[in-house]
Amino acid sequence: MVTRGILIGRFQPPHKGHIEVSKQILREVDELIVGVGSAQESHTLENPFTAGERILMISKGLAEAGIDLSRVHIIPIPDVKNHAIWVSHVVSLSPPFSAVYSGNPLVKRLFKEAGFKVKAPPMFKRKEYWGAEIRDRMIKGKNWEQLVPKTVLEVMKEIKAAERLKDLSKTDYLLS
Ligand code: NAD
Repeated sequence: MVTRGILIGRFQPPHKGHIEVSKQILREVDELIVGVGSAQESHTLENPFTAGERILMISKGLAEAGIDLSRVHIIPIPDVKNHAIWVSHVVSLSPPFSAVYSGNPLVKRLFKEAGFKVKAPPMFKRKEYWGAEIRDRMIKGKNWEQLVPKTVLEVMKEIKAAERLKDLSKTDYLLS
């Protein structure tokens, strides 16, 4: 029987930590499902990139790392207002899976309560390989390019990601 594990994240943006953890999961299961969470969100400081942009970046980053994409399924997962029904929402959108991989306490709790096997994979260089840190560096014009795979960087340049974040930082200031 094929074994599948799911990794759910916002991937804002996908970074080298996400790629490392994906490689690790694929040593344990036959297929990896990457759930792109908060799929309805884009163009905010916390969630600057659309689900489609994130899916493109993730598939390029995984391929660059030598991962066979026939073993990977990337699906968008919009949020729901009620945490108590989120797991069944994820199950309704995803290929079947038996294991859940997450370092996020809320994600772990919700899946454990629903009876799933939940594993917390090790964090790689969490201080740097961290979406909030990368977005902050992009806004401040600090070095961030080395924290994402080369092919992810290419997509980010194509969509003018740093420019978008800098504009969003001005917009949010005006709205607050
Ligand atoms: P994220 O992109 O920050 O992280 C995703 C996963 O990647 C983490 O759990 C962790 O296992 C791994 N990771 C991150 N940095 C790493 C590093 N340096 N090294 C190794 N692994 C690393 O995403 P997140 O914030 O955990 O995403 C959770 C998603 O689930 C969000 O979209 C959230 O809205 C959604 N969610 C929705 C509901 C709801 O709709 N009611 C409820 C719970 C969660």
